[in-house]
Amino acid sequence: MIDKEILKLMACIRCKSDLTEESDYLKCSQCNIGYPIKEDIPHMLEESIFSLDG
Ligand SMILES: [Zn+2]
Repeated sequence: MIDKEILKLMACIRCKSDLTEESDYLKCSQCNIGYPIKEDIPHMLEESIFSLDG
């Protein structure tokens, strides 16, 4: 789990929207992309982003 206060500070690097926490990634519903969470650390890098399309 990501601390809610930390989650509030995080934003999508593409569109700056708020992110929501899913089971093992953070989701941007605007871009329909996910940022992986590994060992409780969200990876907020362009190369870490995966698409949620389909
Ligand atoms: Zn976004």
